[in-house]
Amino acid sequence: MDRIELLRERIRDVPDFPKPGILFKDVTPLLGHGPSFRLCTDLLAEKVGANKPELVIGIESRGFIFGAALADRLGVGFAPVRKPGKLPFKCSREIYSLEYGTDALEMHEDAVDGKRCLIVDDLLATGGTAGATARLVERLGGKVDGYLFVIELEFLKGRSKLTHPAQSLIRY
Ligand code: AMP
Repeated sequence: MDRIELLRERIRDVPDFPKPGILFKDVTPLLGHGPSFRLCTDLLAEKVGANKPELVIGIESRGFIFGAALADRLGVGFAPVRKPGKLPFKCSREIYSLEYGTDALEMHEDAVDGKRCLIVDDLLATGGTAGATARLVERLGGKVDGYLFVIELEFLKGRSKLTHPAQSLIRY
């Protein structure tokens, strides 16, 4: 079977989570199966190719898991992007709009330090979270090489909102 299809089989659809009308793409079956988790990291590393970043940025919370595994594979550092109030040191904050209301993300002020960054998350939906992360990285003096997602919900057209190259493994 195609390697992408092997991974797709390990993604579970959970209807109406966390609220009615959302079809949640649950990656815990993929993470819980060693060969699939390794295959996923293999495929993410293949997408990176020769253009290795200096730092992987992972978005809370599933972006930490895939991002940290990829950073380890590439032999580069990892920096977390978190919801407000979670990081202990001095932070920079980016506020972004949701369908109703706003949300915010934070990074440590010294996390990026002029590096070339690759932003990693489990899933690209509307692109709001990923876009805000890139603005945060650039505000802190980093250069965004691009984005890498395990899953992309293409019908939400999040990619069109992003101003840096985006790649994804599994598309719906
Ligand atoms: P967005 O900002 O709309 O692109 O949403 C992306 C963020 O929300 C990612 O961190 C995802 O983990 C999460 N997310 C959005 N929609 C889903 C979904 N259908 N299933 C799982 N996670 C989702």
